[in-house]
Amino acid sequence: MLKEKVALHLAGPTPVPPQVAAAMTMPMINHRSEKFSVLAKDVASKLQALFRTQEQVYVLASSGSSGWETAMVNFVPAGAKVLNVVIGDFGERWSKANAELGYAVEHLDYEPGTAAKPAEVAEVLNKHQGSIKAVCLQHNETSTGVFNPVKEIAAEAAKHGALVLVDGVSSVGALPLHMDEWGVDVAFTGSQKTLMCPPGMMIIAASKRAWAQAEEAHTPKFYFSLKEYRKSYDKGQTPQTPPISLYYGLQAALNMLAEEGWEQVQERHHLMGEMCRAGIKAAGLDLLCTEEQFASDTLTAVMVPESVEATAFLKVARDTFGVIYAAGQGKTLKERIFRIGHMGYMTPNDVLVALSAVENSLAYLGYNIQPGKAIAAAQAVWLKAVRQG
Ligand code: PLP
Repeated sequence: MLKEKVALHLAGPTPVPPQVAAAMTMPMINHRSEKFSVLAKDVASKLQALFRTQEQVYVLASSGSSGWETAMVNFVPAGAKVLNVVIGDFGERWSKANAELGYAVEHLDYEPGTAAKPAEVAEVLNKHQGSIKAVCLQHNETSTGVFNPVKEIAAEAAKHGALVLVDGVSSVGALPLHMDEWGVDVAFTGSQKTLMCPPGMMIIAASKRAWAQAEEAHTPKFYFSLKEYRKSYDKGQTPQTPPISLYYGLQAALNMLAEEGWEQVQERHHLMGEMCRAGIKAAGLDLLCTEEQFASDTLTAVMVPESVEATAFLKVARDTFGVIYAAGQGKTLKERIFRIGHMGYMTPNDVLVALSAVENSLAYLGYNIQPGKAIAAAQAVWLKAVRQG
């Protein structure tokens, strides 16, 4: 085997297109120059299209997790009561971050594989009679491959005077998220998943309602203070030295997505999601997601058959069949599932490769499976989609 040629089907980082890699080799420029301002403004305007917002969109040199802290310290008053809606490990981590930051955290927890229910969110908000200041949730829970009904939850939050803060680290751009239209107050993402860039950027936008409350959020902050970003935004400047190479990469990636079409990017992800799910089911395997209408189009979490050891499966898939999947995440899911990433710089052909290694690896490990079924089912979904135009 050619060891270097492996298909990266993680839940991020995802493959970086050659155009993006090449853009990142541009010579360094003065970040206080007109040249950088033009770059930053171009990136910002495309990010607005991506987030479906008219508001400013900021790029910070930090990873996706910093979105949790940035959203909280800028827009939610110190010590306030907040509701963390938890459908998986990333929801759990955000709730831990909030507790660490000194917020009074209320939880609404769901079984892995299920999505949050807007009516249940409303019930909790009702019970607390307006004292909950923010609802925090994942748009797409990367640890389980399930997305939340953000639009409906945002509507409930608005009725109860709470901000809705959305972690879109594994969804923005690939799954529908209409920030302004849905009344999402803060949304953020990271660079290394749907945006086809290396890790290192956190991208965040906030509504007018969130900004109106920013003055009351006296939580200590410095590096993550968005007020500073706001001050220099119109000049195409950032308060600290920006990650210039990553900016070039992001511009190249956004150009590719814009050229494909923002809607078409989502359609491609939906097709890949449908293909992957059809393939997994045809192979006789189970999805972790028990409510298929909430199954994620950016990654699929698959139950590892009982007779198979997850670690052995991942190793064979990587070393023998050339595909890297993401392992299960969190105490309860680590050995129970594996996750197939199909987001970012991916096409339906990549899904076929990912499914092929699932079948081959399981067959090689002695599991009773007939290789080819998953691929055939996925191909059928693709062909049907093409025929329907
Ligand atoms: N939130 C979600 C939904 C994620 O999927 C991830 C990373 O996988 C994070 C937050 C954390 O991002 P990072 O690892 O870039 O800090």
